[in-house]
Amino acid sequence: MTARRRGEHAGPALNDPNQTDVLVIGAGPTGLTLAVDLARRGIAHRIVERNPVPNHATRAKTIQPRSLEVLDDLGAVGHVLDVGVARIPMRFHEPSGAVVDKPSISVRSGEVFHTPYPDPLWIGQFDVEHALRQRLDELGGRVEFGSEVVGVDQDDEGVSVTLRTAEGDETARARFVVAADGGRSGTRRLVGLPLVGETFEEQRWYLGDVTVRGLDREYMHIWPSERGMLGLTPLGIEGLWQVQSPILPGEEPGTPSLEFYQRLFDERVGPGAVHLTSASWLSVYLVNARLVEDYRSRRVLLAGDAAHVHSAAGGQGMNTGIQDAYNLGWKLASVLAGARTDLLDTYTAERRPVARTVLEMSTEKMTRAVAAAGRGSEDGLGAALAGVGDGNRNSGLGIHYRTGPITYPGGQDSTSAPVAGDRAPNVTGLEGAGFSGDLFDLMRGPHWSLVAFDHTDPVVFDNAKPTHMHVHRIGPGPGSTIVDAEGEFQRIYQPHPGELVLIRTDGYLAARMPAGQELDVINHLAPFRSAGNVVRPY
Ligand SMILES: Cc1cc2nc3c(=O)[nH]c(=O)nc-3n(C[C@H](O)[C@H](O)[C@H](O)COP(=O)(O)OP(=O)(O)OC[C@H]3O[C@@H](n4cnc5c(N)ncnc54)[C@H](O)[C@@H]3O)c2cc1C
Repeated sequence: MTARRRGEHAGPALNDPNQTDVLVIGAGPTGLTLAVDLARRGIAHRIVERNPVPNHATRAKTIQPRSLEVLDDLGAVGHVLDVGVARIPMRFHEPSGAVVDKPSISVRSGEVFHTPYPDPLWIGQFDVEHALRQRLDELGGRVEFGSEVVGVDQDDEGVSVTLRTAEGDETARARFVVAADGGRSGTRRLVGLPLVGETFEEQRWYLGDVTVRGLDREYMHIWPSERGMLGLTPLGIEGLWQVQSPILPGEEPGTPSLEFYQRLFDERVGPGAVHLTSASWLSVYLVNARLVEDYRSRRVLLAGDAAHVHSAAGGQGMNTGIQDAYNLGWKLASVLAGARTDLLDTYTAERRPVARTVLEMSTEKMTRAVAAAGRGSEDGLGAALAGVGDGNRNSGLGIHYRTGPITYPGGQDSTSAPVAGDRAPNVTGLEGAGFSGDLFDLMRGPHWSLVAFDHTDPVVFDNAKPTHMHVHRIGPGPGSTIVDAEGEFQRIYQPHPGELVLIRTDGYLAARMPAGQELDVINHLAPFRSAGNVVRPY
């Protein structure tokens, strides 16, 4: 990505291909999300990946509603919607030969969230990465495959990064580095941010991607067994299945191979009952629950699995990483455009509590799933797996930053309307001159949004540049630039007449304020702003 960014701040030295503003390490879902966000903001960046080719393993297999909203905002949701499947029912094959069908474990999130994407989608991680790479390509960026970071050395001005490629070593220079290099992050070690927590030696799973002869792809298939259940989930469009089986406590794990997995099926289900035909990824997965104390070491920031690792139960890992990157992208862009670097500390303050909750929740779910996995029948196992689905908690839509340092508290007394720090719910049925659509349509893009409800007087934010802030006068009648035609904004946000709702570029409410209180909000945000930049919200 060589594009110059549009900010006020001078970019890296022209003509020096080794200098950039942000160097992203790792092209998993986290690094790719960040690269896309930086690219759409015109920030000079590089994204390096040590593997020579894109990841082909399914790994994560659920994308949650909040991540779908993020991908929509980034312009990357199309392919995900094309390949993802909303609900895959479960088919239990009992040892007795009985077949019991049950509904999908994925649960639609509640209407209270007002999202265009209420359903989590079953999708292989490689397809999410494909969608993000495709979007990055459209924006003029590209992943540098076969480029491994082997050294990181930071000073007050920037970070020197040693890259190892087939052609030899190169030293790159960046103002900031984001380590999205996964659970075994070498960068995390190099900058001395320990990953604290525990490894659950008794919670291990065989995993892999296989093809299977003649199995109905309309179902997720589960074979309960006292020696550990076997599961096959259809993913992707090329006949792939993710195989999953617990290694029971005390059992010595075997080495995964096609033959080994076939043997598990033959022994537990019956010879030839399930016929595996090929395997493209094989793994033993050991459950960890670990978190760093701080996501930032001066000019190096950690994101995704590099900052937190936890059980896959509840399908949160990839999603938390995508949302970390989305929280960080605009903050880096703001700092590069002149905001105070203190803004980067709000990244840890906002995202670490989210990861801590995910750790606790997924550990509890995994413990239940592992305990149930050795049951010899659907009874109990189905219930335990259904508990793993838990829609509203898993969706990510309830994540909020109410007590975060950016949020200007107060301003709304209703118990059912969103308050400052909450995710902004969508509103349908808005009509304006040449516009007909949703609140999310107005919010889509790298700008902040100010909704002035039933408010015709000028507001301080009117003077903000359109690249930074879009001001919308939404209301029931004349004077409004956008008419709340179906009364949805009024019903969901329950605004007082004249109220101002300030929405961050990443879709969270920074403030709800009565008319005339803008300067208080601006003062609240002053610790992050550069001097003199009054109408820029951060
Ligand atoms: C078996 C399994 C099942 C899972 N199931 C789920 C699920 O159902 N739902 C869910 O949400 N999550 C799930 N997860 C977790 C999910 O896969 C991870 O949370 C997700 O991949 C994290 O994304 P990331 O981009 O942070 O890290 P990664 O995807 O690990 O990407 C890191 C990238 O950095 C690269 N890299 C590492 N070191 C360097 C270096 N020095 N230089 C350059 N590049 C480097 C790596 O090659 C890799 O491509 C599962 C994980 C596993 C292993």
